[in-house]
Amino acid sequence: MFLADCLGVNELGHLTIGGADAIDLAREFGTPLYVLDETQVRQNCRAYKEAIAKFYGGHGLPLYASKALSCKALCRIAQEEGMGLDVVSAGELYTALQAGFDPANIYFHGNNKTRFELEYALRERVGFIVVDNLTELETLSGLAAGRPVDILLRIKPGIDAHTHQFIRTGQIDSKFGFALETGEAFEAARMAAAAPNLRLVGVHCHVGSQIFDVAPFELAADVLLRFMAQIKSELGITLTQLNLGGGIGIFYDETDDALPYGVYFEKVAALLKERCAALDLPLPLLLLEPGRSIPGPAGVTLYTVGAVKEIPGIRTYVTVDGGMGDNPRYMMYGANYTVLCANRAAQPRTETVTVAGRYCESGDLIQEHTKLQATAPGDILAVLATGAYNYSMASNYNRVPKPPMVMITEGRPRIIVRGETIEDMARLDC
Ligand SMILES: *Cc1c(COP(=O)(O)O)cnc(C)c1O
Repeated sequence: MFLADCLGVNELGHLTIGGADAIDLAREFGTPLYVLDETQVRQNCRAYKEAIAKFYGGHGLPLYASKALSCKALCRIAQEEGMGLDVVSAGELYTALQAGFDPANIYFHGNNKTRFELEYALRERVGFIVVDNLTELETLSGLAAGRPVDILLRIKPGIDAHTHQFIRTGQIDSKFGFALETGEAFEAARMAAAAPNLRLVGVHCHVGSQIFDVAPFELAADVLLRFMAQIKSELGITLTQLNLGGGIGIFYDETDDALPYGVYFEKVAALLKERCAALDLPLPLLLLEPGRSIPGPAGVTLYTVGAVKEIPGIRTYVTVDGGMGDNPRYMMYGANYTVLCANRAAQPRTETVTVAGRYCESGDLIQEHTKLQATAPGDILAVLATGAYNYSMASNYNRVPKPPMVMITEGRPRIIVRGETIEDMARLDC
């Protein structure tokens, strides 16, 4: 039920995160509060490293997709755990560099990188640029004068991981990357090969997110390997990197069916070995870009319950002191979450309620018709698995300050991102 190793219930019946009592945390730091368990984050990083070592001879590198939770503390952990980093903006790159991340292991993504961002990345000697389109290829070739830049091409493998049948042409309608079917991807490879300042080292794809199945990754790997074979035979270039992107799903509630990383790797690695032998390609360096699965399961958001509004025959709203400003995911795409009353965590969840936020939008909900313990004003609610795409998607709607984030290390909390103040809300006003 508890979805992650870092969660538990103590003798007081309180939810614990990394051994820290959620009620103590709420009292010490206030609510809303983002909580992240360091041990769990590191364990999630290591699962990727270990799987690559076990099934692929260590000939790979997981890159933490920092958009899931970009802050200096996470960049430091990723570096300490021997991962590379994926960034998609100057802001994420700046954060990584401020954290002391080695730029040689940074991959710069994005479907519309600005000229400023490309210049910034080159100036800071970012290791690899993942090129999305021909306009970018031309701009980059111009900017790279004098020093060759290593690039990967972002390919649309024609697989939609979110349909049950993996429709091979469905994904041609995507704003990201080069299409294979139209010959656009090969044209890009040909142009990159001809550009004196660019060194084409690999191909990349990202088939989706919150995926519970190995098949889309296997299909994508197969499609990209065949493209690599075509580049080898027609352009005489042997690419050394294959980047299969992110997308591994995590548990948000008991209906999810997350894949153990090992299962995923064993199959993908076996397919790579078999296909490379058949296509006469050397085994590429395998890059993976886990985002959600690194901080996601390690995070919990704590709120204080305000009014509980029972609308007879309709539903009961349990109102909390946060909402769409700190977690827009239910509002954006109906994301599922597990909600617990942290001070009654040992009790069964007998009520069916809608957890609503404090923002001026009817759609500002954390979860509808969800199971929860009987709650009263002043209780502390915990929303589980909020480590990814919560803080990173937070806004200041209604000029509500963003909450702080604490990291738990061996039971002890420390602030890793300060909360904003109401003064911050007018700080940039002229
Ligand atoms: C979003 C994204 C990721 C991370 O995806 P998760 O589902 O969070 O693992 C990795 N690579 C690229 C290119 C992405 O856009």
